[in-house]
Amino acid sequence: MPSPIGHVLAGVAAAWTADLVPGDRDCRVAPATAGWYERAGGGLTVACGALAALPDLDLLFGGHRTMTHSLVAVAVVGLCAGMMAAGARRPIARVALTCALAYATHLALDLLGADPFPPQGIQLFWPFSREWFISGWNLFEGTERRHVFSALSLGQNAKAIVRELAILGPIVTVTWLVRVKALAGLSTELARRDHSTQ
Ligand SMILES: [Zn+2]
Repeated sequence: MPSPIGHVLAGVAAAWTADLVPGDRDCRVAPATAGWYERAGGGLTVACGALAALPDLDLLFGGHRTMTHSLVAVAVVGLCAGMMAAGARRPIARVALTCALAYATHLALDLLGADPFPPQGIQLFWPFSREWFISGWNLFEGTERRHVFSALSLGQNAKAIVRELAILGPIVTVTWLVRVKALAGLSTELARRDHSTQ
């Protein structure tokens, strides 16, 4: 299963990919003069990175890769995000779907990763089915959580992270570049609109 680093990268890529969907995305646009944090999408992008790593918090309270790794959890995250967006007067559907997509990347990465210890995979359809799912593609290496500071674990985890960076790094970079291009036109248009209303 991938490391938190791989999961965070996938969550950020999900946020930036969702920004490519046309519609009510004025709140996702920052002027060219804004700082990098605003231009990267600010709090929602950070939240997406965090949401993508969140499912593994189940390691702290047991039942790993069950409840938090299910499609039901994805729906709950979308619902909560939508409610928070409504309270903050943000586009409800956009925020809800962006957050749900970011969370869902965790499930996707785990499905694509290697899991050397049975039961392998995740309980995707919890609580309706307790069946474990995994693709068997082993696209991402398994990380070692036992004796994390032993030479063997450090080596295995470093190898896993290098592979995650090699696969997800280019995806994040391309998503960023496409997003910059897509939002640049919108930023100019918003500036013009602001100017004409003043
Ligand atoms: Zn996981």
